[in-house]
Amino acid sequence: MKKLLSLVVLVMFSLTTLIAQDKPDERLQCKGKRKAGDACKSTIVSKKTGYCNAHDPNRPHCTGKNSKQEPCGMIVSKGKTTCRFHSVQ
Ligand SMILES: [Zn+2]
Ligand SMILES: [Zn+2]
Repeated sequence: MKKLLSLVVLVMFSLTTLIAQDKPDERLQCKGKRKAGDACKSTIVSKKTGYCNAHDPNRPHCTGKNSKQEPCGMIVSKGKTTCRFHSVQ
């Protein structure tokens, strides 16, 4: 029985360390905001900028306008200035 108990303790210990290791990732959350104004919950964040792919200020955004004549803001691929919806090609 003692062996089983130590095994349980070991499992519990590794579980808590796993959870503890997860925490730093959780804190790394995108600093950007979503359209509704609430915080972006993306945790796939660049350590350099602190923003996720969609909110990365260094990523070029589409220069096109949507139906309301507001900036499109879609992320475009490198070397392009418009998204696939606004691409003239
Ligand atoms: Zn984001
Ligand atoms: Zn666009």
